[in-house]
Amino acid sequence: MLIVVCIKQVPDTTQVQIDPVTNTLVREGIPFIANPYDTHALEEALRLKDQFGMRVVAVSMGPPNAEATLRKALAVGADEAILLSDRVFGGADTLATSNVLSAAIKKLNEQEEVGLVLCGKQTIDGDTAQVGPGIATRNGYSQLTLVDRVDQVDLAGKKIRVRRKLEGRHEIVEAPMPAMLTVVRELNRPRYPTVPLRLESEDREVKVWNNEALKLDVNSIGLKGSPTWVSRIFSPEREKGEIVGDGLHDPKGTSRLLIEKLLSKDLLPV
Ligand SMILES: Cc1cc2nc3c(=O)[nH]c(=O)nc-3n(C[C@H](O)[C@H](O)[C@H](O)COP(=O)(O)OP(=O)(O)OC[C@H]3O[C@@H](n4cnc5c(N)ncnc54)[C@H](O)[C@@H]3O)c2cc1C
Repeated sequence: MLIVVCIKQVPDTTQVQIDPVTNTLVREGIPFIANPYDTHALEEALRLKDQFGMRVVAVSMGPPNAEATLRKALAVGADEAILLSDRVFGGADTLATSNVLSAAIKKLNEQEEVGLVLCGKQTIDGDTAQVGPGIATRNGYSQLTLVDRVDQVDLAGKKIRVRRKLEGRHEIVEAPMPAMLTVVRELNRPRYPTVPLRLESEDREVKVWNNEALKLDVNSIGLKGSPTWVSRIFSPEREKGEIVGDGLHDPKGTSRLLIEKLLSKDLLPV
């Protein structure tokens, strides 16, 4: 049985540059890393592999240089790495991205049964948290988001029990497999590559699947298959300055300070 881990290569910076004309990310000259949440997804897959002997396949859709990110997945113990790369995949929004990833997962399933798909909770660049659920919907898998603990995997009964980290509470959920999980950082601590595995990974194959392999309608992928229009992307401007009051000893006076500030900015209905 396979565990597929979806890993996106993202810019190693919190200040992503945007092309003002095309409104897409400027990739040139920026160092790239694996999306941090995806490293936790990979670690969990490797732990399940250690426990149950499942095979781990790392998959990424991206430009040719995303191969480096996949090679790092091989270096920590992934069994196979597949880069989904083709010009027609470029400019994809989350819908078109999930179309390509779910088609690749279906193709893998034809070769060997896919039991689990592990994704990060979200990426640190696009940040939408839509791609994992998009894959689950398209492939008809159980959808378990925000997982911070995997309690039980019952391969014979094809069931998985996880804990989800919700706002102010946790939820234990059991679902049939195949299942798609999105994971949060608290799930585990990703391992480092061992020297032998890292050296070996340099010579391992990172397979490349283009659209000839996936045979998707070009109107459902890339820019053509992306109904989202980005009109503008920008970092919010932060106003400098602060309101200092003694909320402990003078709560009324401090509240007044805050209200006066909000009124002066026209932020309160009068
Ligand atoms: C019109 C339009 C054009 C765009 N053009 C581009 C472009 O040219 N280049 C560009 O970089 N971005 C582009 N984007 C952004 C693109 O939508 C997102 O990068 C992509 O769809 C993933 O969304 P996200 O980053 O919010 O992922 P999320 O939904 O936050 O990701 C959740 C999880 O899904 C998995 N995942 C997400 N993306 C991938 C991937 N590519 N491969 C493997 N696993 C993945 C990971 O496990 C990740 O943790 C464009 C967006 C729009 C709306």
